[in-house]
Amino acid sequence: MAGAVMACVLAQHGWDVVLLDRNVFPKHKVCGEFLSPESRQMLASLGLYSLVESLHPIEIKQVRLTAASGVSLELPLPGTALGVSRFLLDDQLQQAAAVKGVKVLAGTPVLEMVPEQDGQGYRLDIQEKGERRSLRARTVIGAWGRNPQAGVQAHANRPRTEPHPQDAWIGVKAHFAAAGPERENRIDMYFFPGGYVGVSPVEGGRLNVAALLSRRAFQAAGGSVPGAIAAAQQWQPALRSRLTACSLLSETQAAVSPVRLTRQPAAWGDIAHIGDAAAVIPPLCGDGMAMALRTVELCAPWVNRYLKKTVTLNEWRRHYTEAVRQEFAGPLRWGSWVQLASANAGAMSLLLRLGRFAPQLAYRVVQATRLKPI
Ligand SMILES: Cc1cc2nc3c(=O)[nH]c(=O)nc-3n(C[C@H](O)[C@H](O)[C@H](O)COP(=O)(O)OP(=O)(O)OC[C@H]3O[C@@H](n4cnc5c(N)ncnc54)[C@H](O)[C@@H]3O)c2cc1C
Repeated sequence: MAGAVMACVLAQHGWDVVLLDRNVFPKHKVCGEFLSPESRQMLASLGLYSLVESLHPIEIKQVRLTAASGVSLELPLPGTALGVSRFLLDDQLQQAAAVKGVKVLAGTPVLEMVPEQDGQGYRLDIQEKGERRSLRARTVIGAWGRNPQAGVQAHANRPRTEPHPQDAWIGVKAHFAAAGPERENRIDMYFFPGGYVGVSPVEGGRLNVAALLSRRAFQAAGGSVPGAIAAAQQWQPALRSRLTACSLLSETQAAVSPVRLTRQPAAWGDIAHIGDAAAVIPPLCGDGMAMALRTVELCAPWVNRYLKKTVTLNEWRRHYTEAVRQEFAGPLRWGSWVQLASANAGAMSLLLRLGRFAPQLAYRVVQATRLKPI
């Protein structure tokens, strides 16, 4: 998402842009498919809102949280959110980039990035149609998502880091065909020992069910997507009843591992990072896409100035890194506390009870995990 949107913005500025992705779209992606009110605003300010509207998203106005103990709390969202599948959204964003003149190379992994010896740009080694070849670019933006090992490092022989077991989460998702017209314009989050599940209505009368589980919980559930969702239903009668008479659409299943959550933004490595490559908010905050879009908003003006030679690479790095740190550090910190609390059944139950007595307090905690309005 971040890469396609950045490509659109840079093409609008008149630059020659190549968008590289190792995947081919449309493709099902592990995601709650919940476009927060903040994401909506950003898509509008980036000129992409009509594209989302054309996908017939579902409006969502409430969130309901249910602890493993059964205690639940329903809160209004700070605006209207949308439920729309990544299958459609990612594909449409990529097509929008192509329409704006971006050269889209899908199914093309980037293997290595080497700075040019004269300091004027980079050589990218890519695998296109099974063959290794090179591209040259004045600048490269890293939008490879949450897994730094999937991304390209300038020095391919840099030691690889294994995720800490606590960070090694597994994400799964599948669509369910709803039994009848979906009447709940609400996103539901269900917590259980070892993880949580989000249920969001998306276009076409479907429910998107996405879960984040510890490796142990995933293995105990049989190590499969339907197994993980079935185990969550065992723990959570409320989830079981929400999915009653709904059928899992097997071609929509996806899983991803490891899902690493960052506590500190990393807006720059060898090059500028955007989206999850810059910062990963815990999925239960439902704001990863808004954050990805915000990094594009913050970074794109600097790319433009750098390419026009009105700022140096160092100025771009300094200003962009500082802007990301200022805006993201608070939400990431709060997000990791909420994530920590969610892993403890007793703490989650207590928090939701507290929230029922003091909804304003609960609302403020939710707000603390989100980017501040600009
Ligand atoms: C379980 C779960 C639920 C979530 N739910 C929500 C939600 O409801 N709402 C929300 O806003 N956010 C949610 N998120 C977060 C959201 O999915 C991400 O924040 C968002 O996708 C980030 O977009 P991105 O463009 O940075 O990365 P991605 O969308 O991951 O895109 C990265 C792209 O880089 C490509 N790539 C990687 N390496 C290479 C390479 N070497 N060469 C070429 N291409 C490469 C990949 O193929 C991929 O297409 C959730 C995340 C998880 C794990």
